[in-house]
Amino acid sequence: MRDFSKDHRWLSLNTMTVRKQGDLQTIIDACARHGFRGISPWRDQVAAMGLARAAAAIRGAGLELSGYCRGGMFTSDPSRAQEVIDDNRRAVDEAAALGAPCVVLVVGSLPQYSRPGSPPSKDIAAARARVKEVLAELLLYARKAKVALALEPLHPMYAADRGCVNTMRHALDICDELDPQRSGALGLAIDLYHVWWDPELKQQIERAGRERILAFHVCDWLVPTKHLLEDRGMMGDGVIEIQRIRNWLEAQGFSGYCEVELFSRHWWDQPLDTVLRTCVERHRSVV
Ligand code: ZN
Repeated sequence: MRDFSKDHRWLSLNTMTVRKQGDLQTIIDACARHGFRGISPWRDQVAAMGLARAAAAIRGAGLELSGYCRGGMFTSDPSRAQEVIDDNRRAVDEAAALGAPCVVLVVGSLPQYSRPGSPPSKDIAAARARVKEVLAELLLYARKAKVALALEPLHPMYAADRGCVNTMRHALDICDELDPQRSGALGLAIDLYHVWWDPELKQQIERAGRERILAFHVCDWLVPTKHLLEDRGMMGDGVIEIQRIRNWLEAQGFSGYCEVELFSRHWWDQPLDTVLRTCVERHRSVV
């Protein structure tokens, strides 16, 4: 396993972590100041800055992308199917322009939450079927653009609104069906927050293998968790055995970035430099 105790070469910042503290340029400058080498920006932040300017600023700061957040929300009223595919194709194009290795996909679930305004449904099986259809179509486009699609299985507490693919096993079943050749074009974003509890985690990481591990998102699970979305913990403050799981990934040949991704009201209230300094410290001591 790689030794992270002496440097943070393989630490990447998901910009959600400090999105309340400043715009993308401010975050890029802070990354450079703290010696980050990786970043994973969100689409709205890139749009606010302008795609070309964002790409130039990221390159100028010597940063590589560990991913691009995010595509997905595949389920909708049937009349909006084209809007969904167009939106996701744009995400792929933006990722290509930014030099991102993959687009992270939060696939959506019941259409009224995935694409607000869609008629309400309780049919999660239909949502799952639709996700697979749209993903198959998007994969054709992403292959041509040479951008991989990283399916992110979400914690089951998000099964109704954010994502109806909730386990590593389910996500890998989809990958195996749509990309049986294991081409590298389709795989997983493995986010500890979503999968740490899964009794099959080690087994499914072994099943994923190197070709399917496209991104690794780290944070921690706090007890008690006070908010379903915005109370992720800083690494080391919760109950996830981060190093043990990283070891499982690296045993498969994973050698990429560990991307810190916090959605946290607590950390959004801290000064930008405090958050980045803490990320670096924890990366060295507990990731
Ligand atoms: Zn994530």
